[in-house]
Amino acid sequence: MKSLPCPFCGSTKQEFYDLWYDGPHNLVYCECGAQAGEAEDEEGAISLWNTRATVEVSQETSMECLPCPFCGGLEKEHYKQGRYFWLWCNCGAQGSHAPDEKSAIALWNNRICISNQLASQISTENK
Ligand SMILES: [Zn+2]
Ligand SMILES: [Zn+2]
Repeated sequence: MKSLPCPFCGSTKQEFYDLWYDGPHNLVYCECGAQAGEAEDEEGAISLWNTRATVEVSQETSMECLPCPFCGGLEKEHYKQGRYFWLWCNCGAQGSHAPDEKSAIALWNNRICISNQLASQISTENK
């Protein structure tokens, strides 16, 4: 199974992390700094990354942060560590790190629209 392009930056350059601390933590990490939720194995991590929530964005949508591209969840925490800010969803997905909160939200809201057709095309190619 191969990973789909990043929902934030559109890049196809993702790394796969296989970490071990108190159990297996596998995740897909994009070159832009975004990552999806953690899973017990590589397949699980990639399927989390490849999950795309249908997010309807209209002009009436006046929320500060868009729903998560992976799970569609609205609940996000704003993290700050050292000089960096980023958004962290309930599902474990994280946006890119930015030097201030406003930029972190802008990075989170930056979405590449991948049509379902393209997504299914990519997954068929990988079969
Ligand atoms: Zn990315
Ligand atoms: Zn999420």
